[in-house]
Amino acid sequence: MRIDNQLPGGNIIVEKIDGHKAVLKRELRDTAGNWFYWKFRAEFDEPGDYVFTFLEGASVGNRGAAISVDKGKTWTWGGVSEEDKKAETFRYHAAAAGEVWFCVCVPYMQSDWDAFMASMPEGTFHCEELCRSRKGRSVELLTWGNGPKAILVTTRHHCQESMATHSLEGMLREVAAHPNMYKEYTFYVVPFADKDGVEDGDQGKNRKPHDHARDYGADAIYPEVKAIMALAYRVKPVLLFDMHCPWLRSSTDIYTYFVGQENPRIQAGITAFSSVLENESPASFPHHSSDDMPFGVSWNTSANYKQGKTLVMWAAGLPWEPRAQSIEIPFANLRDLTVDAAAAKEFGAALARTILKVI
Ligand SMILES: [Zn+2]
Repeated sequence: MRIDNQLPGGNIIVEKIDGHKAVLKRELRDTAGNWFYWKFRAEFDEPGDYVFTFLEGASVGNRGAAISVDKGKTWTWGGVSEEDKKAETFRYHAAAAGEVWFCVCVPYMQSDWDAFMASMPEGTFHCEELCRSRKGRSVELLTWGNGPKAILVTTRHHCQESMATHSLEGMLREVAAHPNMYKEYTFYVVPFADKDGVEDGDQGKNRKPHDHARDYGADAIYPEVKAIMALAYRVKPVLLFDMHCPWLRSSTDIYTYFVGQENPRIQAGITAFSSVLENESPASFPHHSSDDMPFGVSWNTSANYKQGKTLVMWAAGLPWEPRAQSIEIPFANLRDLTVDAAAAKEFGAALARTILKVI
């Protein structure tokens, strides 16, 4: 078989290929320390059982590899045994020769966004350019509606956190399907806050000197972050909502949760939103407010923010006192429940309904 990273979001180092077995590593690029993102294509010369093993740290999530046999249009989980997961290994049975794409998560790329836009009736959304990325890519800004309550929603401050964008698409589909219900709102949406990282397949998390999600404030270095701050000042959102995905597979990566904030006014808004979302969330993607992570617990301590402010922390200081919140949306499972792109979209619809009730 042959393996390479020549696909959108590609990220792989091939250490060795021996017959039907491959030994692989992730490309860390400018990430400090370790992170878990990888995505590659394999070309099989013959049908059979293939084995992929990763070196150097956690790489295989709770449902194994996401697999696409249609060059990234659709993805399914391959599944994994506990034994293989511990060995950072997944297996694939190729029914025929040909090209198959593999990824640690269910990707959401520029092509998925374009397909989403193309699937909607002409004129549903207004799309413009927020800014150019550092590599010159056009960064999307979508707007919907013209109501007095501005809502600013972002995903991919950490570029590989794809389930957040699947949920975002679900939110937008829900809003667009019920224009009268949402007529009090104007949505401003930045789907790819680290546009280059998404398309290039970077880890994104813990970039040196800091990543996009720690860039908020006067000394911002990323054009997307500067543009999002300018947009916020221009439209004065009543809610700034930043959507993320957690780590790969630890005991705190298997449920949705809001990231608790030190600012009591911001925290009160989060608590109110989370309790309504608990009732709105679907059986396919349940949310329990008791899973929310208070400030000061687990990784959510001041030590985590030494490199800089998040969007939410920055928004807490805005003079018009908006609500601000960030949520973590797992990649593969909510406890025993396996989740996929469709389920994430149903969850996104619940987020929209919660905005309607709370904001
Ligand atoms: Zn994140």
